[in-house]
Amino acid sequence: MNNLEDIVSLCKRRGFIFPGSDVYGGFAGTWDFGPLGVSLKKKIMDEWWKFWVEDRDDMYGIDAAILMNPRTWVASGHTATFADPLVECKDCHGRFRADKIADGISESVTTEEFQALGVKCPTCGKTNWGPIRKFNMMFETHVGAVLPEDVNGDENAKALAEKSVAYLRPETAQGIFTNYKNVVDTLYPDLPFGLAQQGKAFRNEISPRDFILRDRECSQMEIEYFVRPDDWETQFEKLLKENHEFLEEKMGLPADKIKDYEVPADDRAHYSKRTIDFMFEYPNGEEELMGLAYRTDFDLQNIARESGKSMEYRDKNSGESFVPHVIEPSIGVERLFLAVLSAAYAEEEIDGGKRIVLKLPENLAPYKFCVSPLLKNKPELVEKAREVYNLLRKKYGNVTWDDSGNIGKRYRKQDEIGTPKCVVIDFDTLEDDTVTVRNRDTTEQVRLPIDEL
Ligand SMILES: [Zn+2]
Repeated sequence: MNNLEDIVSLCKRRGFIFPGSDVYGGFAGTWDFGPLGVSLKKKIMDEWWKFWVEDRDDMYGIDAAILMNPRTWVASGHTATFADPLVECKDCHGRFRADKIADGISESVTTEEFQALGVKCPTCGKTNWGPIRKFNMMFETHVGAVLPEDVNGDENAKALAEKSVAYLRPETAQGIFTNYKNVVDTLYPDLPFGLAQQGKAFRNEISPRDFILRDRECSQMEIEYFVRPDDWETQFEKLLKENHEFLEEKMGLPADKIKDYEVPADDRAHYSKRTIDFMFEYPNGEEELMGLAYRTDFDLQNIARESGKSMEYRDKNSGESFVPHVIEPSIGVERLFLAVLSAAYAEEEIDGGKRIVLKLPENLAPYKFCVSPLLKNKPELVEKAREVYNLLRKKYGNVTWDDSGNIGKRYRKQDEIGTPKCVVIDFDTLEDDTVTVRNRDTTEQVRLPIDEL
């Protein structure tokens, strides 16, 4: 089993992921994707989009604005309840998420319960705690011409500032729910149908940690699948199966590392009648990879109440009207990215030495081929290799060039970034148009004609 530090170090060394604002010493809870990382991330997102939207007749995509009318978050309950329990040490004034510094307590822990535990402050070791306070995780901002002095100004100025408060969306789901009516009014799809969205979401985590698993800015891929109320169980089972198919067949995650956790009624959101968390065996332990939740008509009814507009769907055949129920598969891109990386990461002994290799599925590897001339100081080899490189790039797009160091070093480097095949042009190529193709996973080399690549 590999550990998280090895993966973090590979990510930085090879340009997958850097700490956010690295040059200024970082910025907690943010990460930047480098050239290799953005390529892998984009491929993950594109595969998801193809699988769920393009290859199906019952799914439609949308791309809603990140800034939404604040009533969205009143209706969804985020303004009132999207909060973590914050506790402050009265000695060192360190602030922590109460349920993360003590074992076996839930997010709804009370001040009395917490103080009775005698938890030591992770910073100073004392047990002198203030009360538990609810800390709302939405990032607040002001929209429009609001000056800094308005925020602390006279009553009129304060009212103006309050009116202008908006939030960076804490989830992409509400952008889908608020467009449900637009889509029904324009496309009028048959039930069941789904709306899919990919995009950024923001959460002001009290203590971001575990690399990209708990960050303050992340990308989500969510589907709201609208069904007839009496059909939810069948559709839930179907989506459950299809999500496993996506993770295992398209993302290359081993089935035995994904466990379905049936969330018990006590731990479910109050409106949910069934939720399954897909738990993945990450290098630092089991963590939630994605969720599949039956949300009933909770969200659409909230929007109907807040907006005063009907969210009813009229059945084309029976003429019957009702508010559809919803099943939501929701996955974080960074969580999936890390699952893909940790499933692919391996350290192996070869030729008496150690190699690190990313056994990424071919559809996700940043580069499909690496092309190189055996020797970089032989112009005829370089010229031929350039020809092969251009040919493959035209055919496959994602191809890289490497003429640095010796062949062994180039293989090590390509192994680490997950390139499935290395193509080497040597003197025989000039005679018979064949090349050496080296396989990343087996390290076997075969001789192939160029036109068979
Ligand atoms: Zn302290």
